[in-house]
Amino acid sequence: MQERRFGATDREVAVVGQGTWNIERTDRSLTVAALRRGLDLGMTHIDSAEMYGSGEAEELVGRAIAGRRDEVFLVSKVLPTNASRRGVVAACGASLTRLKTDHLDCYLLHWRGAHPLQDTVAGFEQLQQQGMILAWGVSNFDTHDLEEVRRIAGVGHPACNQVLYHLEERAIENAILPWCEKHGVAVVGYSPFGHKGGLPGPRTARGRVLKEIADAHGATIHQVALRFLVRRPPLFTIPKASNPEHAAENARAGELQLSEAELARIDGAFPLDRQARALPTL
Ligand code: NAP
Repeated sequence: MQERRFGATDREVAVVGQGTWNIERTDRSLTVAALRRGLDLGMTHIDSAEMYGSGEAEELVGRAIAGRRDEVFLVSKVLPTNASRRGVVAACGASLTRLKTDHLDCYLLHWRGAHPLQDTVAGFEQLQQQGMILAWGVSNFDTHDLEEVRRIAGVGHPACNQVLYHLEERAIENAILPWCEKHGVAVVGYSPFGHKGGLPGPRTARGRVLKEIADAHGATIHQVALRFLVRRPPLFTIPKASNPEHAAENARAGELQLSEAELARIDGAFPLDRQARALPTL
């Protein structure tokens, strides 16, 4: 599994990690097995949130990482409604209890809400001082929001911005990705399979491009898609898989190497829409 530096933290993190939204909707033993299979194969970046299953996803992650906390780069998120200074600290404490751990590697504001960012940042800083989180970041932030965080918290913050990014939704490449690259902020792409898991099939021209490249590497189209999405720093991706076979397949994307010509073919088949528009979210 390829790893790369995660923002201004001193951590090298797996480029392909594991999402956990809706994992509680599948057979719980299977979903825990999928997460553990992913860990076995190097997908040690695990992304959760207090919102997911109203805490049930964090509880399942807690089961999956039991006895192997040290292997994991563990991320969770606070809901905007809890993002006051005190609310952040309380929400983090509850997440740690569900996850059965004493710290998070990174704690994110899930999206921007009504609480002033200064208060949320103050809560994050308090958690850092208490050792409950090692770093903090944001999610669904556009460049003007990122600028504001940087004005409040200074250089080195946020550690990451987690944003929607898949082959058919590349809007972050217009402004957010360049901004994060310039300021050393990790970009964690969510919903790499567009949330539902499907990719264009071989009956479409774009699907054929994926299939031909996959076949040339003895890989799958899902692996090719993931590799494109982490083709350069500071990109990471966090596919969700409740099926252990999907998890194993996704992990192997962390080793796949595509040539510049292959990346250019994918770029051409799934072209970037350069029109300026609001940051897409799910
Ligand atoms: P996703 O990862 O784009 O797609 C998940 C779907 O793809 C599931 O149905 C899964 O099936 C399927 N799948 C996984 N691997 C596959 C493979 N190799 N072949 C075929 N199908 C495969 O969707 P997502 O859950 O929306 O996004 C991933 C993670 O990003 C979330 O779980 C969450 O952690 C994070 N996220 C964050 C935000 C935010 O606002 N910050 C928003 C959305 C998502 P099985 O489950 O049956 O294996």
